[in-house]
Amino acid sequence: MDTICALATAKSPSAIGVIRVSGKDAFEIADKILVPKTDSVLASPVAKMRLATVFDGEKAVDEVLFVKFKAPASYTGEDMVEINCHGGVSIIERTLKLLIKNGCRTAEAGEYTKRAFLNGKLDLVQAEAVGDLISSSSSLDASLALERMSGRLSKAFDNIFSLLTAVNTDILAYIDFPEEGLSDVSNGHVLSVLENVFSDLERLEKSFETGSVIKDGINTVILGAPNVGKSSLLNAVLGYDRSIVTDTAGTTRDMVSERAVMGDIVLNLCDTAGIRKNAGEIEKIGIDIAKRSLDLADLVLCVFDSSREMSDDDKKIIELVKDKKSVAVINKCDTQNKLDEKYIFDNFIQTVKISAKNGDGIDSLSRVIRDMFISGDVVKNSDMLITNARHFERVVAAKKYIESAISTVRQGFTVDLASIDITEAASQIAQITGAAVTDKIIDDIFKKFCVGK
Ligand code: GDP
Repeated sequence: MDTICALATAKSPSAIGVIRVSGKDAFEIADKILVPKTDSVLASPVAKMRLATVFDGEKAVDEVLFVKFKAPASYTGEDMVEINCHGGVSIIERTLKLLIKNGCRTAEAGEYTKRAFLNGKLDLVQAEAVGDLISSSSSLDASLALERMSGRLSKAFDNIFSLLTAVNTDILAYIDFPEEGLSDVSNGHVLSVLENVFSDLERLEKSFETGSVIKDGINTVILGAPNVGKSSLLNAVLGYDRSIVTDTAGTTRDMVSERAVMGDIVLNLCDTAGIRKNAGEIEKIGIDIAKRSLDLADLVLCVFDSSREMSDDDKKIIELVKDKKSVAVINKCDTQNKLDEKYIFDNFIQTVKISAKNGDGIDSLSRVIRDMFISGDVVKNSDMLITNARHFERVVAAKKYIESAISTVRQGFTVDLASIDITEAASQIAQITGAAVTDKIIDDIFKKFCVGK
């Protein structure tokens, strides 16, 4: 395999930029451009940081720190050198050019992690977790990605795979040597293994509801009559002024969309034009968007103004969201209450009182939303929590095969008839971890990574 190089940190002026060199000639190539204060790169010890100067011929380019990693004890499983340059873009580019001139090629997107996978340092679930950790948006998302990286979820899949291959081996032995007293293989044993696997797959499938919310966020629409404080709520949740807040009704004419982290959860928030009768033309456009966005919303935050009496607009909005997962947010609780709160409590399962102005109640709102979407049990048992749509699809497919195998055995057919479905189910699981996977799947996964990862 070629020796590859790429910048692993962001390409923008910064204190330090880390260049990774990986492959069988990594040490020799680094030796051609790096002159350490003592020894040469080749003579330098592994896993020790050393000071060196990067030279382009006679000309010094940068003062750097570098570390050697000897295969297989490196991220990729190959010989690697990590060079900590100063993070100036021209310095980085010059150093990369020097490496290429001396025999490296530029790494493709995700090629370091792909090599780690191909060299058995990580399975596919762990490799994908590296990408998830880097792109994680909440602390919960990050800590779950870290657990996946350490192999917790992989163990669950490996266990299912082992159970299925073991039961298939028993079935094949039974077919080949029926006279050898393997009679229990024919019914109860196979059925109980399949039922256990089925319930594990069902748990994993269900966990994706929570998992996808943690990873992708909750599509949330903020809805309410004009001036109830929708924009103020958005700003309070974001922690900075994103929407224009004014006293004039209907100032938020377009949709304002932001990703907000509220503790463990991420909201993909849409502020909308206030829903109102007699709206002007421009505002009407915003209102149409608001109504359409409701169809796509996982959650509606329905905002009411406690400083005024319930209006027809408020009631219309309640009608509009009656079939949606929603929270009534009673805003302006720092003022004298005039709102018919009973009406709200009667129409919503979840109600939270806040003051968007001074931030009161925002934490309670965050807790209420978390409890609505994130099942505590699922998170506690994170070794059985999937957040990745690719894993979900394979789990659903495997479950169908197991369902079919169970039905075959229950109907009293001989167990060998279930064997094909069991093999198919095992193959779906093997695709998740990468134990058996096509080049296309591998390429599709790693091309989503960026260069240097
Ligand atoms: P929107 O039209 O629903 O987006 O409402 P805005 O967020 O623009 O707020 C309308 C008015 O209500 C502004 O004058 C805000 O300062 C005020 N307001 C918003 N939230 C609060 C609150 O919690 N308490 C008080 N007293 N005023 C608020």
